[in-house]
Amino acid sequence: MRPVVHLLPKVKHRVFSGHPWIFSTEIGSVDGAFSPGDIVEVRDPRGRFVCLGYINPESTITVRVLSREDRDIDEAFFKERVRQAVEYRRFLFGLSGSFGDDPGGYRLVYSEGDFLPGLVVDIFAGYVSFQTLTLGIDRWKETLIEAVNEYVSPKGIYERNDAPVRRLEGMSLRTGYLGEPFDPVIEMDENGVTVLVDIQRGQKTGYFLDQSENRLLIRKHLAGKSVLDAFSYSGGFGLSALKGGASGVLFMDASEAALDLARAAAGRNRFSGGASFEMANAFDALRDYERSGRKFGAVLLDPPAFARSRKMVESALAGYKEINLRAMKVVEDGGILCTSSCSQHVTPQEFDDMLEEAAKDAKVSLKVIERRGQRADHPVLSGVPETEYLKFRMFQVLKW
Ligand code: SAH
Repeated sequence: MRPVVHLLPKVKHRVFSGHPWIFSTEIGSVDGAFSPGDIVEVRDPRGRFVCLGYINPESTITVRVLSREDRDIDEAFFKERVRQAVEYRRFLFGLSGSFGDDPGGYRLVYSEGDFLPGLVVDIFAGYVSFQTLTLGIDRWKETLIEAVNEYVSPKGIYERNDAPVRRLEGMSLRTGYLGEPFDPVIEMDENGVTVLVDIQRGQKTGYFLDQSENRLLIRKHLAGKSVLDAFSYSGGFGLSALKGGASGVLFMDASEAALDLARAAAGRNRFSGGASFEMANAFDALRDYERSGRKFGAVLLDPPAFARSRKMVESALAGYKEINLRAMKVVEDGGILCTSSCSQHVTPQEFDDMLEEAAKDAKVSLKVIERRGQRADHPVLSGVPETEYLKFRMFQVLKW
């Protein structure tokens, strides 16, 4: 018998309309003994079946939904879910062969977006970066790795379970090769550019695949321009700009390790002539450029998530406004601003409102060239706004 979670009456339960989270405040009682990470059945206030999920009382999201059908949750269930996620990527990218032979990068499994909450699997030129971020999914790690091996035939797998959120779930942090070791700095193709992915020491899983399409989109608009790639990390945007014929790119990041990757990648692409690198706090650097009157034909802003909770949104928006306002001032009249936010807690509306205010203060108008989000291998579920986390905007900046 599975433990049963009873939902409270008189609460608007989003789970009824397909949302994959149940908060501790929505739960009345739990019948039956359970350990954190166990599979539970969820029932509505009238005792009717709602869904199956895994429970962790240490997390404010107490239950994460695994299935809206009453069925066995076993190894076969998880393997099937991984297979479906992999099939979806084959469909999206028109791939017929094995991902293990593909030189590109794809997110193969993305948590709630693939009905596998807590699991993140990226593949970079045939090598897999693997994360289990919740206790409930970590329990099934062996099965999930087996499924990845079976459906993807990767060249190697690296476990990146060093994300601090694991601590909130009561888990320790761990990293390492799952199977044969390999060179952790991977050369990968992205839209015809060689990028370097440090699967062992790089940020998050090693590379930010969610911006892949946006990196391609900027290319055709930056030919001949001098570009500032602020928050460049390993250089994805700036390298794409150079591929498109930008006259020069200044890669800027607070991390020297990130800039080392960007520098090495610029060399592999024979872009070194047009590339320069600056280790700096982008807030300070933008302020200095504004004071000194230095201008760029295009500025790219892709900062880390400034808001890690809803409570932090206000201060995050102040931070976003500051860098965007300064970027608008250091872009030439008629130049390009590409600006992003990956904070899940900042809504697209809040982001756009902030940009409008920054434009007002900078006394510029913004012509919208692109208004986009993350690539579809980071699925957005309709009705689950939390899955739509990435905001990407491309503007022409005009004074008139
Ligand atoms: N644009 C990158 C991803 C950026 S991730 C890409 O396309 O892959 C955010 C980056 O911002 C990280 O590399 C981090 O080191 C850097 N960063 C964080 N705070 C910073 C600051 N104040 N100034 C400059 N860089 C910063």
